[in-house]
Amino acid sequence: MPDCNNNCSTCGENCESRTAPQSFLKEHHPDAVVRRVYGVVSGKGGVGKSMVTSQLAVLLRRQGYAVGVMDADVTGPSIPQAFGIHEKAMGTENALLPCLSEGGVQVMSINVLLDDETDPVIWRGPIIGSVVQQFWTDVIWDVDFLLVDMPPGTGDVSLNVFQQIPLDGIIVVTSPQELVSMVVEKAVKMAEKMNVPIVGLVENMSYVACPDCGKKIYLFGEGKTDEAAKRHDLPVLAHMPIDPQLAKLVDEGKIEEMQSGALDGVVETLMSK
Ligand code: ADP
Repeated sequence: MPDCNNNCSTCGENCESRTAPQSFLKEHHPDAVVRRVYGVVSGKGGVGKSMVTSQLAVLLRRQGYAVGVMDADVTGPSIPQAFGIHEKAMGTENALLPCLSEGGVQVMSINVLLDDETDPVIWRGPIIGSVVQQFWTDVIWDVDFLLVDMPPGTGDVSLNVFQQIPLDGIIVVTSPQELVSMVVEKAVKMAEKMNVPIVGLVENMSYVACPDCGKKIYLFGEGKTDEAAKRHDLPVLAHMPIDPQLAKLVDEGKIEEMQSGALDGVVETLMSK
């Protein structure tokens, strides 16, 4: 290359003298402590990615871990609402401090930075990408587990997160209807391409349990996630039913009062890693 300075880590060109694959990974804030980072991804919006992320945070917190949730779903942020957080984040001269839920979960989201949390985020991709990057580089996290509620799909913000944040793994949330369109397969393949380990799949909205007899009704068909998981040689970590009680707790900002055991297996897997 004509302008080569022999520093491959800062160069985007793929020339023959490249010595190592280019890394875009960023360091977290020097004062932050982050032991493990897991991304929660989905093929498209509305399948319950934020629901799964917030429940996992609650369950890990109950096990005594310091837990943070980074709401990287900037155009559809829903984590502060689930935890009943409506105040603004505080900052120092060069850093942001996460908000704390009542149960002690650390949360950073665009909604705790905007003047009015109902303001829409109408920024273009690169700006959104740099906000998410700052959630990693500028926030003083102090956590055993950081869960990243990723933007849905395989767009450029997801790609940025995969490239910039050293993920220990991802959890893929699907719903049985979603599998038909193969968007989840794309999310799985993206993680494989980015060399990020996939912890497993969580099937949400798997069934409804009859409140009278307990019979499970599989509204969208049974076994689809298991088939997709088999194709990719991945474990299915949980089948989560549609549970109106959970939706109500999210709406009321009280997810920390949840009693569902549907994701216990996922938490055990994360703790054993
Ligand atoms: P995503 O993060 O994938 O866009 P959300 O987690 O925000 O999706 O879920 C979309 C809506 O569906 C929310 O109102 C949420 O409370 C509700 N929801 C998700 N999963 C369930 C479930 N298992 N039972 C009841 N409601 C659910």
